Amino acid sequence: MRYIQGEDRSQGTLFPVSLDELIPEDHLVRVIEAYISLLDLEQLGFDKAVPKATGRPSYHPADLLKLYLYGYFQQVRSSRRLEAECQRNVEVMWLLGRLAPDFKTIADFRRDNSAAFVATCRAFVSFCRGAGLIGGDLIAIDGSKFQAVASNRKHITPKKLQRREAVLDKRIAHYLAQLDEADRGEQEQAIDRSAVQTALETLRVKKANNQTCQALMQAQGLVQHVVGEADAQKMRTPSGSRIAYNVQSAVDAKHCLIVHHEVTQEGADNRLLEPMAQATQAVLEQAKLNVTADAGYSNGAQFQACEDAGITPFVPPNRAINTKGGEEQFFDRTLFNYSEESDSYECPNGKTLTLKALNKGDRVYHASISDCGTCALKSRCTKAERRYVTRHAHESAFERMEQRMKANPDMMINRRSIVEHPFGNLKQWAFGNARFLLRQLKGTRTEMALAIQAYNLKRTINVLGVPKLMELMG
Ligand code: SF4
Repeated sequence: MRYIQGEDRSQGTLFPVSLDELIPEDHLVRVIEAYISLLDLEQLGFDKAVPKATGRPSYHPADLLKLYLYGYFQQVRSSRRLEAECQRNVEVMWLLGRLAPDFKTIADFRRDNSAAFVATCRAFVSFCRGAGLIGGDLIAIDGSKFQAVASNRKHITPKKLQRREAVLDKRIAHYLAQLDEADRGEQEQAIDRSAVQTALETLRVKKANNQTCQALMQAQGLVQHVVGEADAQKMRTPSGSRIAYNVQSAVDAKHCLIVHHEVTQEGADNRLLEPMAQATQAVLEQAKLNVTADAGYSNGAQFQACEDAGITPFVPPNRAINTKGGEEQFFDRTLFNYSEESDSYECPNGKTLTLKALNKGDRVYHASISDCGTCALKSRCTKAERRYVTRHAHESAFERMEQRMKANPDMMINRRSIVEHPFGNLKQWAFGNARFLLRQLKGTRTEMALAIQAYNLKRTINVLGVPKLMELMG
């Protein structure tokens, strides 16, 4: 039995194979080439988009942008690995015309063009809109935590610093006691005084640094800080508390393309519905917009603000329930009927609760003491001398939301099918379940813009196919 044989390495060829012959007509790199050639890099803000008349020639930003887009498409994000790809990968050789920039040039390009990458990501969304790939009928908003470069060990709080200071105090006291014992001649074995003095000095420096940190945090009112990456925050993630950023995305229902995204420092999503919805509305240039999100985005003030801006949100209203002291056995507030006309509630016994006070925008209503005092239902209503009912400052917005959600029972199922696809792809495919490579908001925004652009490009290829997409780009 024989094996399939490869070519002899020293065999010459009469007609050498060109790079172009090695790349199929429907290959990804041809799409990247066509797309980048469409862009006005100067307008997008790329550094060196216009070559200098004098001095050493630089790499064209289009070449480095192609390299990064290809890299994020292939899970190659580090500048050193991209440098290696330039030297060994035929697809990259075709894309860059065999240019082989070193890792520092590649890394500097990413570092210096943060805003331009975000603008390029937007330009692709604009292209998709023009190509009719974005419906704009329904947008699903969701967030996911992406781990920062900094590890949990770099996270400090005033309490942690105090604990560390106490440990340092103990160790300093231990060394001082050793010196005292040596002075009194109580040591069984002679100690190395200079070694102890050096250790003491090191501990005192650590203690001074610790105290400086505590003073700085107090002066700036910080409750937490990540050393080396001040923008990152400790956040709750499915795998426990991590130093991370909360990445928000707005996904169009038609083809699951990400139309807007933001890297935020918010640990929770409940203040992000309105800013994300309004930013998406601006991107899509639509006066009216329907958005959906999960219960984590529930926020009465933001429901109202969205409605005021022409945005119809679909979010399960999520309100805090006070279960302290067995309150759940009393009549639920939903059993009290509100009348907008008289601005009052009617209780289960038909009595009227009138407005008593405003508390941080919430409206507090109460029944009269005489009504409650003689009420047969009082034991099921309140332990106090009269019943109070609080109306949320944006109660009407909550009520409208409840009605909308009842009228659209499938909305949450739709939401899940729209948003879970992009985040699953981004985390596993683009990031390989790894953390960010760049630090701070600026760096993470750059990386996320590149990853999302790669995701959108991949999605567009899947939807249209390469020939159709190339035709649209041509
Ligand atoms: S206790 Fe007061 S508020 Fe409650 S049902 Fe009776 S009258 Fe109405």
